[in-house]
Amino acid sequence: MKRVAVFPGSFDPFTVGHESIVHRARKLFDEIIIAIGTNTGKEAYFPLEKRIKWIRAVFKDDPAIHVMSYEGLTVDFCMKQKAGFLLRGLRTASDFEYERAIAQLNRAMEKNIEVVFMLTLPEHTFINSTLVREVIRYGGDASKFLPAAINLTEN
Ligand code: ADP
Repeated sequence: MKRVAVFPGSFDPFTVGHESIVHRARKLFDEIIIAIGTNTGKEAYFPLEKRIKWIRAVFKDDPAIHVMSYEGLTVDFCMKQKAGFLLRGLRTASDFEYERAIAQLNRAMEKNIEVVFMLTLPEHTFINSTLVREVIRYGGDASKFLPAAINLTEN
């Protein structure tokens, strides 16, 4: 059976930290579905269509990496996609506390899905979408925090 992992997030925007997690996890899984959740309660800064397009551009050479959006519970989306694994990145101890609660809640709902955590590379620990958004909002150069294939100014 194929090992399929869902990597859920807001990806607002998708950063080099996210890109690195997907590349490293690709060695563990046959397929990865990068899944943009649309009901987090937070209004997104970048439109969903742009986020999808940018992430597809990053992984355009790997047909085993898919980009989708979903509404509702992440575990329900995993079951629908027949994905047995949920992938999340960990940067800090506070990430861990937050992720532990979600992972244990998800497990209580659906024990057939294993949550897999990958530690971020040290050089990506400080990168988060909120800060990258602030740099962009105030006209700074965010290119070093974004995958090379993402060009924010291109339509
Ligand atoms: P969410 O809104 O669900 O936290 P994000 O888009 O912020 O979604 O993050 C998606 C996943 O990527 C989370 O597991 C998060 O911990 C991880 N992540 C975010 N930034 C980094 C980074 N710089 N390095 C590694 N993992 C990261």
